[in-house]
This record gives sequence, C-alpha cells and structure tokens, in this order.
Amino acid sequence: MKKVLYTCPYVPAEWVAAHGLQPCRIIPVSAAAGSAVDRLEGLCPYVRGFINEIAAEKETCGIVATTVCDQMRRGFDLIVRRCESPAFLMNVPSTWQTVAAQKLYIGELKRLGGFLVRLGGRLPTDEQLAEVMLKYDAARRNIFSAKEKLSAGEFAEAIASFSHNGPGERIDDSADSEPVGCGVPLAIIGGPMMINDFDILRMAEQFGGRIVLNATETGERGFCSPFDRRSLRENPLMELAAAYFGGIPDASRRPNSELYRWLERELATRGVRGIIFHRNVFCDIWHAELSRLKDFSGLPVLDIDSTGESESYRQRNSNRIRAFLEMLT
Ligand code: SF4
Repeated sequence: MKKVLYTCPYVPAEWVAAHGLQPCRIIPVSAAAGSAVDRLEGLCPYVRGFINEIAAEKETCGIVATTVCDQMRRGFDLIVRRCESPAFLMNVPSTWQTVAAQKLYIGELKRLGGFLVRLGGRLPTDEQLAEVMLKYDAARRNIFSAKEKLSAGEFAEAIASFSHNGPGERIDDSADSEPVGCGVPLAIIGGPMMINDFDILRMAEQFGGRIVLNATETGERGFCSPFDRRSLRENPLMELAAAYFGGIPDASRRPNSELYRWLERELATRGVRGIIFHRNVFCDIWHAELSRLKDFSGLPVLDIDSTGESESYRQRNSNRIRAFLEMLT
C-alpha cells in the first residue's frame, strides 16, 4: 500500500487509513537525514529533517503538511519544489475556541479527503471510519498502559513506531511484566523530537532520573484524546475532529491556555520534580514558552536546544543533564 507522509499531530491517521491509504507520520532521524535541503540558516532542523526524509522515501503517493507554524508553511514551499509526490497544505486554525474554527478544521478534513481520493483512495462510510478509529484508539491505549514497563527511550520509540507504521503487535502490559526502576521524576516538555534526540531521554534515566511525562509533540502530548464511544458511533467524523482539534494541547494554539491546564494537571499527578525543556533551534513558538514555563511550574527547568545533527551537542547535553540530575538528587 502506498504511503501518505506527514508529521503534524493534527493530521488524523485514522482519516487517511479509512480512505484505504497508509498513513505514515515521519519523525526524522536527524536534520541531515537526506540531501534535498541543505543547512539553511533560520530553518527549523525538524522541518529540514522532515523534508529530507520524505524526499528520500520511495513508496509515497502523497504528502500532507499543515499551517501550524510559519516554518512548516515555508517547508511546504520547499516540498512542492523538491519532492515529486503530490502535496497538500492543510489549514489548521490557531484559534480553537469558536465554532467557526472547529467548522474550518472539519472542512479541511473533508478537503483532505478529496485529495486522498485523487491519490487513489475511496471515501469511507461512517462504519468504516468508526472501525479504523477503534483500532487506533486501542493501540494508543495499549502504549499508555505499557508505559510503566518501558524505559523513556522505549516509550518514545513505541510511539514513533505506531505513528510511522500504524497499529502493530500489542506491547506486553500484563501485570506480570516488571515495571522500570525508579529515579527522580522528570518531565520533558517541548516541540517535536527527532529520533536521534531520544538520546536525551536515555541520558536522563542513565544519570538517575525517570521520565514520567513525555510532553513533547512526538511524545504522549501529541496523541489525540481517547474517543468517546457513543459519539464515535453517532458521528465518527465529528468525534475524530473533536479528539484531534480539541484534544491536542500545543504551544501554537491561540490562546494556548489548554497546554498549561494540561501541564498543571499532569505535572502534579505524576509528582514531577524537574523539567527538561526541549526545543529545536529557530523554533520561536517553543522558545517563547521557556520563561513562562519556568514561572508557571516553579520547578527547576533545564533548557536543551537541538540542531538535530551535531555530535558536540550530544556531549554538551550529556554534561548538562548529568549536572541537572546531580542538583536534583
Ligand atoms: S519545532 Fe517549532 S518551528 Fe519546527 S515545525 Fe515544530 S513548531 Fe514549527
């Protein structure tokens, strides 16, 4: 089956799968994973890595980008010029509280459906969409329920694998399997992480921490909210839109108060004692949240920026994370 590539969490995989195509969320390995886009000053390394990977992917039938940030819009212009597959720019409104914004998002899903049909997909019935949604929902629940049994790196990899390949084999979440050992409870908060940046998670746990909340865009914060079963049966498209557009808290929303409400609840529930703040260089959206997050949380915050490519950054991160954990223990 040919793949539809995207990276934004506001693109519902279920909608693509229900059209009979394979959704494939690209989480780049690094910024320099290919050669379609060389280093461009001011270009977010995550966007660069995304474009490089989709340009190298052979089994593609279409690409979907969104308007969540200016960098991604700029990325779409590069995609159109440098990638051969048809590309679609989905408008995701920054405002979210009004009925007009919600209608616009649903309208964009329908417009995306037209694009998917032009790629060879077919418009799903409500029953077909509901069936796919249940399958994806069960896979997400399984990943969550297995979390205590996984290291932070394994948990991030499980999410990345599900995002890339769709629901696969169940992860063992039985009561018999051993939970991962304890450490200083930490949260990692920020924008999307590239696969190579998962090293940060491993370092944190190696130096005595335990990541109890992965609130990055490629972590659990990027998951839509669980589906309401009754709404799913009555109107699956509306429920899909509500779970994605209304269920993913992000710094790009205007206002982004939901992000802080969500963080307030999750940081307290999980007893977090320190925060690793992860951002990609040239990402203004997340950089702007750094001082607010420090004031809001009242917790020690370690700011880690990523270029997505340099080995010297890895050593620097290692030293800084070790010192941060020494301070907390
Ligand atoms: S990391 Fe920031 S700049 Fe890059 S795509 Fe995400 S929101 Fe946009």
